[in-house]
Amino acid sequence: MSKQLKFLLPEESIPRRWYNIQADLPVPLPPPLHPGTHQPLGPDDLAPLFPMELIMQEVSTEREIDIPEPVRDIYRLWRPAPLFRAHALEKALGTPAKIFYKYEGVSPAGSHKPNTAIPQAFYNKQAGVKRLTTETGAGQWGTSLSFAGSLFDIDVTVFQVRVSYDQKPYRRAVMETYGAKCLPSPSNETNYGRSVLAGRPDHPGSLGIAISEAVEIAATNDDTKYALGSVLNHVLMHQTIVGIESMEQMAMADAYPDVIVGCTGGGSNFAGIAFPFIGAGLRGGPKPRIVAVEPAACPSLTRGKYAYDFGDTGHMAPLTKMHTLGSTFTPPGFHAGGLRYHGMAPLVSHLKELGLIEATAYHQTECFAAGVLFARHEGIVPAPEANHAVKGAIEEALRCKREGKSEVILFNLCGHGHFDMAAYSAYFAGNLKDENYSEAELAMALAGLPSVSEAA
Ligand SMILES: *Cc1c(COP(=O)(O)O)cnc(C)c1O
Repeated sequence: MSKQLKFLLPEESIPRRWYNIQADLPVPLPPPLHPGTHQPLGPDDLAPLFPMELIMQEVSTEREIDIPEPVRDIYRLWRPAPLFRAHALEKALGTPAKIFYKYEGVSPAGSHKPNTAIPQAFYNKQAGVKRLTTETGAGQWGTSLSFAGSLFDIDVTVFQVRVSYDQKPYRRAVMETYGAKCLPSPSNETNYGRSVLAGRPDHPGSLGIAISEAVEIAATNDDTKYALGSVLNHVLMHQTIVGIESMEQMAMADAYPDVIVGCTGGGSNFAGIAFPFIGAGLRGGPKPRIVAVEPAACPSLTRGKYAYDFGDTGHMAPLTKMHTLGSTFTPPGFHAGGLRYHGMAPLVSHLKELGLIEATAYHQTECFAAGVLFARHEGIVPAPEANHAVKGAIEEALRCKREGKSEVILFNLCGHGHFDMAAYSAYFAGNLKDENYSEAELAMALAGLPSVSEAA
């Protein structure tokens, strides 16, 4: 048997630059607006929250931005990440399609998130910042920023959504191992947290509330800044290292994708694998189909409205134009916690509006079924979030089988599921339900969108 399964790049070929899709957009991105005045934000408005280097990356239209050498040094711990050909899965599906996947679960945190946590900690350290605050839902981002903070000697305070704090004690233990302080949100540490607790002392928390708490601490302390693990332009740009490496690895495999699939919570791992290929297409190269897969219980791209909305529940974060379910929308319980955000990255939303990407939604049990099939043939147990990408790739492969096409499918296996085995147990016990979100609640949340004059 001489099938090549694994495509590995030498260490020297870790990319030297990130790719900024803002350089190639046919229509520029609508600007972020001040949450109070609704006027376009200037760099100074963001200065209390982020170091200037990251703010400049946020608004940059340079095509390539150098990866600082100390960041590349740390990337060496796990990068270049491997790319695999899923021969065994192809055989199990009986598909003529060729399935490739990029595996980001090899990072110390087990997902793609350190790709941005490391540079964010680096630029903050350079700016003299002593402490970073952030939120975490499922715990992957909190883990990644805690890891990055420990390497750069920056204190990290993580507001973990209360339900997740109570249900996932091991995630908290990992964050504490890296030296971070982890608080359940809503907390008594902030004005906003106290106001939420006053209304409901047993509030289960939400990502939107946790973001407001983390932003409040950063905005009111000179030595403290805020870090976000997805959604923002600079975060998506840091993740393009995934797609840049994948391009080289696909060339080693003598293939180019016809279809690229990624799961979308805030949009960063999807952007990471897809943007370099979309950019190549915008500059005259081949144009693969690009498919975003989201949970049917929190379907911002497929069911949300494209409008200016708040990024957080306390309305302290900037307004951005994005596909949103409304900042007060609470999705029903499901196990891919990293996909529970009410909005979507403005860049991903913009590309959807321009018709440059497609979106589809699946329920969690069919995604777990796909993840289990994948594990039994390829060996890796995917994170529940990644199961959505696996499901999307399998659906494409089955379409190829029906149509008799040997297309090349590439997807991002953005993390492993080793901290999420309780969800797998629930799936095997038949205890996972596919809950639909409430249409009435969605309508209410959308009715609460801020009114912004579109001249902006
Ligand atoms: C955080 C996370 C996601 C969702 O975030 P994106 O910004 O959409 O990538 C998906 N998968 C994993 C494994 C995550 O940790």
